Amino acid sequence: MFFVFKNYKLTQNHFIYFIKKNIKPTLISIFLKLFLYIVPHNIFFMKNIIISITLLISFFATAQSNWQQHADYTMDIDVNIKNYQYKGKQKLIYTNNSPDELKKVYYHLYFNAFQPNSQMDIRLQTIKDPDRRMVEGIGKTSRIASLKPNEIGYIKVNSLKQNGQAVKYKTVGTILEVTLNEPIKSGEKATFKMDFEAQIPVQIRRSGRNSKEGVALSMTQWYPKMAEYDFEGWHTPPYIGREFYGVWGNFDVKIHIDKNYVLGGTGKVQNPQEVGHGYQEKGTKVTLPKGEKLTWHFKAEKVHDFTWAGDPNYKHDIYQMKNGTTLHFLYKNDLAPHFLENWKKLQPKTAELLNYFSEKIGQYPYKQYSVIQGGDGGMEYAQCTLITGKRSWGSLFGVTAHEVAHTWFQFLLATNENKYPWMDEGFTTYISNKAETELSGINNTNPHKGSYKSYRYVVKMGVEEPLTTNADRYDLNTAYGMASYSKGNIFLSQLEYIIGKENVAKTLKEYYKKFAFKHPTPNDFKRVAEKISGIHLEWYLNEWTKTTHTIDYAVEKIEGNKIILKRIGKMPMPIDLEVTYIDDTTEDFNIPLVMMRGHKPTTAKILKAWGWAYPTYSFETKKQVKSVKIDKSGLMADMVLDN
Ligand SMILES: [Zn+2]
Repeated sequence: MFFVFKNYKLTQNHFIYFIKKNIKPTLISIFLKLFLYIVPHNIFFMKNIIISITLLISFFATAQSNWQQHADYTMDIDVNIKNYQYKGKQKLIYTNNSPDELKKVYYHLYFNAFQPNSQMDIRLQTIKDPDRRMVEGIGKTSRIASLKPNEIGYIKVNSLKQNGQAVKYKTVGTILEVTLNEPIKSGEKATFKMDFEAQIPVQIRRSGRNSKEGVALSMTQWYPKMAEYDFEGWHTPPYIGREFYGVWGNFDVKIHIDKNYVLGGTGKVQNPQEVGHGYQEKGTKVTLPKGEKLTWHFKAEKVHDFTWAGDPNYKHDIYQMKNGTTLHFLYKNDLAPHFLENWKKLQPKTAELLNYFSEKIGQYPYKQYSVIQGGDGGMEYAQCTLITGKRSWGSLFGVTAHEVAHTWFQFLLATNENKYPWMDEGFTTYISNKAETELSGINNTNPHKGSYKSYRYVVKMGVEEPLTTNADRYDLNTAYGMASYSKGNIFLSQLEYIIGKENVAKTLKEYYKKFAFKHPTPNDFKRVAEKISGIHLEWYLNEWTKTTHTIDYAVEKIEGNKIILKRIGKMPMPIDLEVTYIDDTTEDFNIPLVMMRGHKPTTAKILKAWGWAYPTYSFETKKQVKSVKIDKSGLMADMVLDN
């Protein structure tokens, strides 16, 4: 039977693991008995049995991505607000659910990126269109390059033990490489205990001290964080600009900090009566301890990140949702009156947004969510967002809609953002565009127009790169932005055109049901859409995400009752046609692609499917044709609209 293992590139360990995980002992014994019975009786059946085993194993081989690692953090953090340094103790219980034995583990030390000559710094100096927030002056010089030693960010690991024994480790930029004393076997746990010290960098990007708007501490990507190991192996990208892929688990975090600071972030405050600052039970009084510091105790379950922010001048409002979820709003109390007004108006609107996404995708699963003024724009985190606060109403609502939507796309449906930023930014853009227009009562048939415009613009500039490009490897930030936000958004809005609006809506819900709290891949999403619609979509995922092929369909000729269409672009698409006859009546037609093996639900007349290889397609109508319009919905990203 060894040839079977070899064929499917499975080691014996994998096999035993899958048997343990997937087959009940009774099933094994039935299988064995059947085998022993058949062998002496019929050699033909014997062959069938071997085929069945082969199929069974190939099923398990493809089911490999069904496991995921688990990490439980306990941290004790002591913050010195005078020099922006903190000391930390971290206990991490790591469960290896993979079928593999791990001889090494890796941690992210993100703050190390904010040092002169780091990869992030050099990338800033070499990319043609650097992020404006990260550069200064006419020469657009990197702000990281000029950081002084007391302004840089760092995380220094002072000691690390695995199950009580010191291990060897090495810091390489933003990654800590750890060589284990004893491998962590499949299905086993290891306890890591680490002492570290860190410095909060001057705010350059996302994290840091003293933001432009004067927020003291934006603490994102601030702790030693275990890198993710999945069916593809380790994911240890250096922090250059983009990230977000973490291990699911639980957090128990204690932060000791100056007692005037108000904190907010991931997790529920466990000791509200000791910290006060608006967290205490309504109407009760809190006597803060005599010392200089307060201890904030947070707990968060089923998350893959932990973020917090702190400022001595935060105003803290609570908005209680009817379903029991508590919303926290933390913003500077010295904002101009019109900004303060916007932050008040935002509170019921945030509740509406959470309800909207819960209804369209899946129920928000946590008990609280916080919108916090901080960071340098808008960035999504576990159970919270950090956004800048000096915004017009439209901008504040828009950015909140976008960041809250991220709770679903990338947070709960935790795709690998480095690899598939389009499933994160694109899907978020799609659903938040819809939320924004619907909740503002705007009647807009295509809320995604901006994405189509930016897609066509970047394609015409000739700088487009396929969506399979790693988020940090795009030549230009413009190309990254267009691909991730716009082309990723169009992936879904154009899917409405292919399989129908209702089917896309159902797909999103089913995708959440199947993959929340997991790490779905593009193919996982495609499979859900295929099962919901009954339409094959391999061609779509392939063309739209792995190539830069473009769409261009044209009406070549109208001859009396005959219409001839032409495919000019390489990318195939089904065609919706509105035909106007000479008597000014109209009729809708739908031409599916052969590759779809089906068509969307539509009231249009379904015509014979179009095979991709044929450059032209013709059909006849009952009446004489006056004019023909391809795709009146505007959802197909055709590059040339006037043909
Ligand atoms: Zn985003």
